[in-house]
Amino acid sequence: MKPTIALVGRPNVGKSTLFNKLTRTQDALVADMPGLTRDRQYGDGKVGGWPYLLVDTGGLSGAPDSLDAAMADQTLCAVREADLVVFMVDGRSGIVSVDEEIADILRRHARHVMLCVNKIDGIGEDKAQLDFHQLGFDNMVSIAASHNRGVQQLIEEIGDYFEIPQEERIEPSRKRRSRKNKVVDKSAEPGSEGASVEGGEPGFGPGYEPVEQSEIRITFVGRPNVGKSTLINRLLGEDRVIAYDQPGTTRDSVSVPFERAGREYSLIDTAGVRRRGKVSEAVEIFSIIKTLQSIDKSNVCVMLLDGTDGITDQDLSLLGYIIDKGRALIVAVNKWDSLNEKQREAMREELERRVEFLKFTRIHFISALQGSGVGDLFKSINKAYASAFVDMSTPHLTRMLEIVTTQHQPPMVNGRRIKLRYAHQGGQNPPIIVIHGKQALKVPQSYQRYLMNHFTKALKLFGTPLRIEFRQDD
Ligand code: GDP
Ligand code: GDP
Repeated sequence: MKPTIALVGRPNVGKSTLFNKLTRTQDALVADMPGLTRDRQYGDGKVGGWPYLLVDTGGLSGAPDSLDAAMADQTLCAVREADLVVFMVDGRSGIVSVDEEIADILRRHARHVMLCVNKIDGIGEDKAQLDFHQLGFDNMVSIAASHNRGVQQLIEEIGDYFEIPQEERIEPSRKRRSRKNKVVDKSAEPGSEGASVEGGEPGFGPGYEPVEQSEIRITFVGRPNVGKSTLINRLLGEDRVIAYDQPGTTRDSVSVPFERAGREYSLIDTAGVRRRGKVSEAVEIFSIIKTLQSIDKSNVCVMLLDGTDGITDQDLSLLGYIIDKGRALIVAVNKWDSLNEKQREAMREELERRVEFLKFTRIHFISALQGSGVGDLFKSINKAYASAFVDMSTPHLTRMLEIVTTQHQPPMVNGRRIKLRYAHQGGQNPPIIVIHGKQALKVPQSYQRYLMNHFTKALKLFGTPLRIEFRQDD
């Protein structure tokens, strides 16, 4: 299980700036889908190839300056559960009283605190550290998050804290490059800002495992009260649970096998399975973290929306996370039974307007309570799974590439035309297409999108994001 790191600090110290630096990945293609919210509270960070889950508590408290707000229930829970707290302060403003109050709470509740003095651009590093010594945390780093200064040092400190062996701190993409120097790593290009920070295997996260398996691993994802438990209980009740463990720990995750129409599935536990009755908001935060971990482990995610609520920002964040992870995705609007025709029309209209980026999948309208639409949901799940694990031969992909580049040539860069020569498969779930060519790393976004649309259509992909990666051969 990935460890959790919480970013804590009063508003405006630079938490989200640092969050973005630590979680930035190179799968820009999927991330750039229009309509996705960029507003993340959870993300994967990495020390080399070693992943951890980062929580930005700033977004959780959403608070003005008062301590009550800054250290709301939820933040406190994040502090308690996190393996490491990175406490951010503003080097320019020096210690303010809220910092002291937060420090006090951290001393009492956090397992381990790393003090991170931000915004040291323009002020001396030593001065910054001196000022904050009186907060009483030995472990201190100074950074300028927005300038990428000290961020690598911070990552190293995280590696030290978790005692990650040096060899695991090397990014997998770099290891590969040193074996086969033809593979060009985008992050190592001169001039690309923050090269050492971006890290990670391009194109897929740590959850990727191309293993043969007979069962389809599903996670039902959705906000509290959308109807996850109702749907899951309906499924498990109808289809006979083979085994259903209930471990008491908060950190474990279970998978529940079940069969439906002769196919085997396993349900990766989300908080929704076990939760009964009302829970406090603080617990809810950690259900979200567990949901994210379940998403990482699944092949197909079924995102439930509440037809009676419409689409919320949290729904959009979850959708963004699933797509970023490359998981196959099916969407279901639940509680359809309780809407009248006018409300249904309004929901359809909202879907069209706000989740246009979901064109690659199908949106189902279901009632978990009455069971309507659930069968169709499974047809889509099976189809999406098949797409996510599609086999694409090199000649087939290269032929498609020829057709698409002939129809519409790649643009010129620096007076030379980009030449895309051949393509092969780089992975499954999500399907990854690796395209080799001259100046391949210079292919502009608009052309990348063109390639993406073409390949998605030509391969008849359904319900799975597609990744395209480029390797420059010159
Ligand atoms: P949060 O409220 O803690 O998430 O803070 P933000 O990340 O939104 O940052 C607040 C402001 O500080 C923004 O205007 C950032 O651009 C700025 N900022 C963040 N890091 C630095 C830094 O290292 N140096 C300077 N000068 N400004 C920074
Ligand atoms: P969870 O928090 O996502 O697990 O949601 P629950 O399954 O506990 O459902 C929350 C509430 O919504 C319960 O009162 C359910 O009875 C109700 N509910 C769930 N599915 C449906 C549905 O399809 N139609 C209607 N009308 N209510 C539903």
